[in-house]
Amino acid sequence: MAALRHNLYARTAYRALSTQSSSRSNSLPLTADGKFYTPPASNDGGNTASANNVKAVPPSPLSALPTGVLFRSLFINSISSRPFLLSPAISVMSFLCQPNKSFLFDVNRNKLLARLMKAVVYKQFCAGESGTEVKETLKQFKKMGFRGTIVTYAKETVFDYNKNVVQDAGIEAFTDRAANLCPNIERWHNGVLETIDMLGEGDQLAVKITGAGPLVTDALAAKEPLPKQMSDSLWTISERCKHRQVRLLIDAESQLYQEGILKAGLDLMKEYNRDGHALIYNTYQAYLKSTPATIESHLSAALDGKFTLGLKLVRGAYLATEKRSLIHDTKMDTDNAYNAIAHGALSKKFGPIGEEGVQSFPSVNLMLCGHNKQSVFTAHALHQQRLQQGLPTVPVGFAQLQGMSDQISFGLLQLGKLHGSGPEVYKCSTWGTVVECLGYLTRRALENRDAAGRTVDEYKALKAEAKRRLLSPMSRS
Ligand SMILES: Cc1cc2nc3c(=O)[nH]c(=O)nc-3n(C[C@H](O)[C@H](O)[C@H](O)COP(=O)(O)OP(=O)(O)OC[C@H]3O[C@@H](n4cnc5c(N)ncnc54)[C@H](O)[C@@H]3O)c2cc1C
Repeated sequence: MAALRHNLYARTAYRALSTQSSSRSNSLPLTADGKFYTPPASNDGGNTASANNVKAVPPSPLSALPTGVLFRSLFINSISSRPFLLSPAISVMSFLCQPNKSFLFDVNRNKLLARLMKAVVYKQFCAGESGTEVKETLKQFKKMGFRGTIVTYAKETVFDYNKNVVQDAGIEAFTDRAANLCPNIERWHNGVLETIDMLGEGDQLAVKITGAGPLVTDALAAKEPLPKQMSDSLWTISERCKHRQVRLLIDAESQLYQEGILKAGLDLMKEYNRDGHALIYNTYQAYLKSTPATIESHLSAALDGKFTLGLKLVRGAYLATEKRSLIHDTKMDTDNAYNAIAHGALSKKFGPIGEEGVQSFPSVNLMLCGHNKQSVFTAHALHQQRLQQGLPTVPVGFAQLQGMSDQISFGLLQLGKLHGSGPEVYKCSTWGTVVECLGYLTRRALENRDAAGRTVDEYKALKAEAKRRLLSPMSRS
């Protein structure tokens, strides 16, 4: 019976995504025996339900998208789904990120250029430049049905291994290292506290630790302890999050800094993740060959220290700037690593941890971040399957970035509407000035280039939804 229910669930999940999607090649959720479920072929393009399938075809997941946002997404996707348009766009974005440019190309000084950037790309992917703009964006996401928004303050430092340069747009140089207080750390600290003040019920905070500037990144790169001002700042931020009941997700960044970032997160978890759930999360990048070993050691630490491991899982966003040998050789290897970690956590068994008679499994809260349809829906189906069969599992949330993969976000939300209780779904957004968000925006463009198939799929779905609304104005939502 449970298997039957699971298959019904799995098929509905697939339908939610496939009614507007052209891609029929992705097998989606799991069958009862744990294999990927491949929906039965139909000769109608998958748009009507067969006797075996659920009776009613749910509306397109994108029907929940406000019309203005739909048409902006359509415009952006019309560029990002065409390599001959996207490649020059990426070159322009990368150029704008470089330091020491003439007035004409300096977004910081050329206000006209900043306004153009804001209207064309910034609004698609970022929450706003001020508290008022951000709060308005968060309100919109809440209205669309999301549990909340994960909000990050954009300031960051990226180390480009290939060019051996540090990119820190929007972070002022800091020369007075003898001074007790670093103005960059102070500005970052205030920016993060300001972010917490913007959050409403259900919203969460994400931080990029390298945004605190060179004093912090130098310590991270040298694998030295963080400056006291910075560690004090992290404790204050965590206290504020605890008080506001807001989760704090610490972003994963360039490898050069990542070891210290993970350590800082683990130290905070030991203090704040003590009551059976995670207030603090570390981010683990599945594309790194070292990540399974890192996770295993952090699971052991959680088990020994009796705290909950906050495990935010991503594939990894720094492929273009990272030392290549640290990253899996192929995309498929990264996909397999991501799925193995997600399924391991959801099944409470990862390597020897959780193996019957060997070692028990610690308390874990999982946040699965990504735009990969197959990973998201197989993980969700596995979680449902385990709940229905009374098997041990861990709490899980799902998150996609603002302006990306709305099909998946709304597909997940639709499952909730169809089945009563749905998954916890978040949008994740970045705020800050256009200059501060440039690095982030460039990574989104690179991600779209690297996920050509998905971008075309998304574009076709957006186009179909736009066409539906234009042809039947009464059905606009
Ligand atoms: C809510 C949210 C929060 C995020 N937070 C972070 C964060 O803190 N830190 C961070 O680094 N990223 C973060 N990301 C971005 C994430 O790491 C990915 O870049 C992005 O989500 C694309 O991967 P995907 O899982 O969506 O799926 P896909 O589009 O299927 O996978 C693309 C990813 O696969 C990997 N890949 C591509 N080609 C290859 C190859 N040839 N060999 C090996 N691997 C390859 C890369 O990681 C690439 O980004 C976040 C994403 C989301 C949705």
